[in-house]
Amino acid sequence: MRKIALHWQILGAIVLAIVVGYFVKSATTDDFAPNLFGTPLITMFDFVGTLFLNALKMIIVPLITSSIIVGVAGIGSGGNLGALGGKTLLFYATTTLAAILVGLFIINAVQPGISDGVPAGEMLALEADTTDISSKVEGRGVSDVAAVFLRMIPPNVLDAAVNGNMLGLIFFAILFGYFMTHLTHQFAEPLFNFWNAVFHVMMSMTEFIMKFAPIGVFALVAEVMSTAGFSAAKPLAIFAFCVLAALAVHAFVTLPLLLRFVGKVKPYKTMAGTSPAMLTAFSTASSSATLPITMDCLEDNVGVSNKVSSFVLPLGATVNMNGTALYECAAAVFLAQAYGLELSFGVQFTIVVIALLTSIGVAGVPSASLVAIAIILAAVGLPVEAIGVLMVFDRILDMCRTSVNVWGDACCATIVARLSGERTKVAIEGPGDEAENPA
Ligand code: ASP
Repeated sequence: MRKIALHWQILGAIVLAIVVGYFVKSATTDDFAPNLFGTPLITMFDFVGTLFLNALKMIIVPLITSSIIVGVAGIGSGGNLGALGGKTLLFYATTTLAAILVGLFIINAVQPGISDGVPAGEMLALEADTTDISSKVEGRGVSDVAAVFLRMIPPNVLDAAVNGNMLGLIFFAILFGYFMTHLTHQFAEPLFNFWNAVFHVMMSMTEFIMKFAPIGVFALVAEVMSTAGFSAAKPLAIFAFCVLAALAVHAFVTLPLLLRFVGKVKPYKTMAGTSPAMLTAFSTASSSATLPITMDCLEDNVGVSNKVSSFVLPLGATVNMNGTALYECAAAVFLAQAYGLELSFGVQFTIVVIALLTSIGVAGVPSASLVAIAIILAAVGLPVEAIGVLMVFDRILDMCRTSVNVWGDACCATIVARLSGERTKVAIEGPGDEAENPA
């Protein structure tokens, strides 16, 4: 029997989970919870989903460390590293800014925070609903913009690894890889072989874990569907719709145009190759947890060399968050509208800059951008408690923005590969194409 492609299996699992989750939610009452042999189904979904997420998270630290060290050491001399790093960061900054501007434009055009000509603050009961937020915000990473830079150089690298400070770990790994290239051959070779071997084991473990993705994804989505409640006021629903529209423009127009004209590759073939990663990002709402799968897709399906993907993707999973930056900006402007705040050019500019900077420091975990939104609200003088209203749609919007985050990283890796002279599996054929990618 022909094997069904992984992305179809995952997509099928998501659809099934939505249906099952819907029935579980409708059957749940105050004194009855659908169960199997006495165990509530929601508990089972939670258990299986957590197992899958744990398996993904388990390999993140060794994967990031080994892939960056191998990536940087493999690039070789400082000049090459500078060129690759420069292209990568330039692309990250440009796409993030493009995403923010699309979000800003749509929110300003539709004005979901204004209902029938008056600020919708009262309608949304903005002062209420503050419980629970601080617990969600706590420990999610940045506390202010300067903290991003402080976290980049951790006083203790093991502590950074243990506490999920990926920015610090990445910085250490880049330095480690860079200085490996200064060693004599006698020392450099065994060290490179060691880290390369660790990296290959991590990739094999990823492929093994991916076999369980349909089951894990089913459990995660079914749990969200059986517990979420969508009792949204109209302005919130319009806001959510605006965010989805802006994310769609970025994912289906801006990034494909860049792939086509800057990267000279086939955009939708790239998207098809990356789809298992995007679907996993959708169900886990965590770009960090999705990283192993993103790397696997880019190397196996898109044909990006290991040299590029092992440098660009781990960096992107932490630093490059197109969807998150768009959402932060849209949410802040929406709340400002709802409070009746005058949105001068200066205020909007502040929002854009902080959204750009904080999206770098936001951790790739569920709901992480709430912290960044809190920072923006404080900066423009709005009560931080206002983020409470965003919780209604946060999970579903988080799932979508995380997919866009991962798609943005994938596009960057594909384009950087092309600009570095590689011909991937998605390249547009034509005279003058470089030789097939050696990796
Ligand atoms: N969940 C997002 C991610 O992991 C971050 C966020 O926007 O909350 O990419």
